[in-house]
Amino acid sequence: MDDYDPGLSLPPAAKDAGCHGGRETLVAAARAAGSGASMDRLLTDYPRGPHDQPQSMCPAFGSLRVGLRMRRVATILSGSACCVYGLSFTSRFYGARRSVGYVPFNSESLVRGQLFEDIRDAVSETADPANYDAVVVINLCVPTASGVPLDLLPKQINGVRVIGIDVPGFGVPTHAEAKDVLAGAMLRAARAEIEAGPVQRPRGAQSDQPTVAMVGEMFPADPMVAGGLLAPLGLGVAPPTPAREWRDLYGALDCAVVAAIHPFYTAAFREFTTAGRPIVASGPVGAAATETWLTSIAAAAGVPQSRLDAALDASLPALRAVLAANPIRARMTLSGYEGSELLVARLLVEAGAELPYVGTACPATDWTEADRIWLEARGVHVQFRASLEQDLQAMRVVRPDLAIGTTPVVQKAKEQGIPAIYYTNMVSGRPLLGVPGIGAMAQIVHAQTNGRERFARMVSFFGAPPTAAIPASAAKGA
Ligand code: SF4
Repeated sequence: MDDYDPGLSLPPAAKDAGCHGGRETLVAAARAAGSGASMDRLLTDYPRGPHDQPQSMCPAFGSLRVGLRMRRVATILSGSACCVYGLSFTSRFYGARRSVGYVPFNSESLVRGQLFEDIRDAVSETADPANYDAVVVINLCVPTASGVPLDLLPKQINGVRVIGIDVPGFGVPTHAEAKDVLAGAMLRAARAEIEAGPVQRPRGAQSDQPTVAMVGEMFPADPMVAGGLLAPLGLGVAPPTPAREWRDLYGALDCAVVAAIHPFYTAAFREFTTAGRPIVASGPVGAAATETWLTSIAAAAGVPQSRLDAALDASLPALRAVLAANPIRARMTLSGYEGSELLVARLLVEAGAELPYVGTACPATDWTEADRIWLEARGVHVQFRASLEQDLQAMRVVRPDLAIGTTPVVQKAKEQGIPAIYYTNMVSGRPLLGVPGIGAMAQIVHAQTNGRERFARMVSFFGAPPTAAIPASAAKGA
């Protein structure tokens, strides 16, 4: 490209770019290489936490997953071979049956700008409108730190959209927020298309009623459950975000109200706000949050009081009855990086659990406030951008009957004879909203806390493993 002059020297820090490189150095390298605007946006949208590097899987997996789950969308990675291997492997582990494109590079092709040319050629070859609506290109750490300018790719080739995004580990703290990077970029492109003229309708039967657009990757049945709760309000459900097909983006943007079920989609919310759509926080978990959520949705959509009363009458008695029939009597800690942690915490507390600590790797946003206030009023310590050390310290202090957490938290809990389950597999993989969510949560907790005696026997048989000292600085999260 005429206006792309990469220079001939590799930015010094780019040579060390990676999960274990220094974040400040890499951010400075990216700025020096011309990616200042991209870094500014990432650092504004995804504020940093107490730790210097991602403590979960490679953040770019979030973007990759969103792309791979969409129909007629090709995804190409630009990054070090080891990163691409890990991401491709993880995508298979999570059931992707789609190819992951890769544009390899070496030091010379990187510093001479050939990598950008290779990416452009790969995109051109891939952009066949018979197969694809869009091609996504994801810059990983090294190309981002080196300033490979994906914003100079053509916006469309043969009618196929080209979406280039930077998703470096030193700019996007969690894979949850990386989903937002791609979701936001796609909504921005779709919004521009809507402004330019007529667009396709989403596939399948569409609601004639005003709709609510749910934001966040949820259990497949959850949007249907939400639809049942919304029906008495005279509202339908729009295609969810992240979208499953390009034309669904138009349907989402056409909503009357946005439901920030997962509250960290900052870039996506910006697009909805620009399109004039009001955003409602929290979600319909348990009875109390459902009452607040339906009331807020009704207000945002201008639904008359009589319809709101009907919706509350149709849902709240059943929710309260199921909560009463499925009490949770356990002392627990909860930590995760999916972004739904506060909703899960609300459900646990309302069902009767004693929950002194909830940690989320995601940041506080405007749409976490209502849930944070509700939880803190009930004695729950809410730790945003929680580090692994804070999660471990909380578990050590609380000594829960059940720890729901990330892989290293669960590993440490089991070493100590504490029943523990993985948040991602066991909680995110089950219903959360409405009546099904209450039943599923009670079932999980009962099944696991019943295993406490078994864990204690195992620890006593094998002997407790040596425990590593936990830094005093981590204690503040407990
Ligand atoms: S792309 Fe992911 S795996 Fe590779 S260095 Fe960056 S954070 Fe680590």
